[in-house]
Amino acid sequence: FRWSRRPRLDQHCEPNGHVWLIRDITQQKLAEKMREEFVSMATHELRTPLANINAYAETLTMADDIDIEQQKEFYNIIQSEATRLARFVDELLDISRMEAGSMSINCRITELDRLLKEICDKIQPEMNRKELDFSIEIPPKLPQIEVDKDAIVAALVNLLGNAVKYTPEGGNVCFTVLVEDNEIQFKVQDSGIGIAEEELPHVFEKFFRSDDGRVRGVNGSGLGLAFSHEVARLHQGRIDVSSELNQGSTFSLVLPLKIGVEA
Ligand code: ADP
Repeated sequence: FRWSRRPRLDQHCEPNGHVWLIRDITQQKLAEKMREEFVSMATHELRTPLANINAYAETLTMADDIDIEQQKEFYNIIQSEATRLARFVDELLDISRMEAGSMSINCRITELDRLLKEICDKIQPEMNRKELDFSIEIPPKLPQIEVDKDAIVAALVNLLGNAVKYTPEGGNVCFTVLVEDNEIQFKVQDSGIGIAEEELPHVFEKFFRSDDGRVRGVNGSGLGLAFSHEVARLHQGRIDVSSELNQGSTFSLVLPLKIGVEA
């Protein structure tokens, strides 16, 4: 609790005493702590890939005894570190727009198969790298939907990216699309570490990261789900989550089929 003293004003607006205010600052302190953790995480997220890119580029330039296979490996590392950096910068931009309350969406009639292809192209390399069994179930007939394609792609890539990050190697991830009445559901199911019951209500809060030691070792900002949640809200949709510790998690992004035209 924090005490604060404010002057009490008389009817002529002159100070004539003091009023003591007591405020519960637990929430405020928690937010400050999460923000501080975010700054140190962001510094790390920016510095680490830059340092790696620098180191590998320098080695490639200076050393003349690197065989072609090793060269390829180093170029791959540079590329994946640059991708990681670009993803993080995109995330920061999205979040700063969200923070400023200026995040808006621009909905257009979108071909669902093109949207799904874009998502799979983005996520497949990460699935392969971690040797996860990635399965996709989509209905043969897909409707058109009226959405902000880039925002929905980013929101779903976040959900799938989390499934990759929080599922140990060799596990499985299933991406399902279900079209029902006037809704479309994108379901991301993983066989990963799961989320403790008491933490579930907090996963969509900005800067939230689980206390689970296994999460601390994974790169992340605690902002992806907050962003995806906001994207769902702006589309008048929602994200549902269910999870069991050590068993896996399921995140579902549900959107209304506002203008649902059969293809
Ligand atoms: P982060 O960048 O930390 O992944 P997110 O906002 O995307 O941030 O997720 C918030 C937290 O929710 C994560 O740090 C993790 O603790 C938990 N989480 C999200 N997705 C999953 C998942 N598929 N499996 C287990 N935990 C998850």
